Amino acid sequence: MLYAQVHLTLPAWVHDAVDTSATYPDDDARIALAIELSRRNVEAASGGPFGAALFGPDDRIVSVGVNRVMPTSCSVAHAETMAFMLAQQRLQTPRLNALGAPYTLATSSQPCCQCFGASVWAGIDRLLIGARAEDVEALTEFDEGPLPADWPQELERRGIELVRDLRRDEARAVLQAYAATGGARY
Ligand SMILES: [Zn+2]
Repeated sequence: MLYAQVHLTLPAWVHDAVDTSATYPDDDARIALAIELSRRNVEAASGGPFGAALFGPDDRIVSVGVNRVMPTSCSVAHAETMAFMLAQQRLQTPRLNALGAPYTLATSSQPCCQCFGASVWAGIDRLLIGARAEDVEALTEFDEGPLPADWPQELERRGIELVRDLRRDEARAVLQAYAATGGARY
């Protein structure tokens, strides 16, 4: 049997966790939402301890993502890639800022090597990060993969503004809570 389509989903609880009419004008509120999504994903046992939210030019949510690797048997179903794919489907464009409007992704932890690449191609203008990769690798068994050593500069060179260490301790606390559950390492 040859499969010819992929179906990926977020957990049903995201509809209760997200207010799509609210505005998120500042970075703190945006990263707080990404971390809240990561926390709820752990509590609901609906995936790994990672959350992301994508904001459009009107400061409203375009999409959100949480890690869905294990529930969907899909290694690319990370929080960031889920948010990118859902935003691209909603806006019907593979490059979000193709028409010039700015888009921002907030993610609870630093993108892994896959999500770094996805961030380069998705068409975002700003990337907000909570925990660092070293936090992820110190607190959990997740592998962040072979990122370019100069990945922050690489993003800046491609016009993506990087803001790190936003609510870092809060993001770290979710990683610790996940590790305490003995969760799988994917
Ligand atoms: Zn990733």
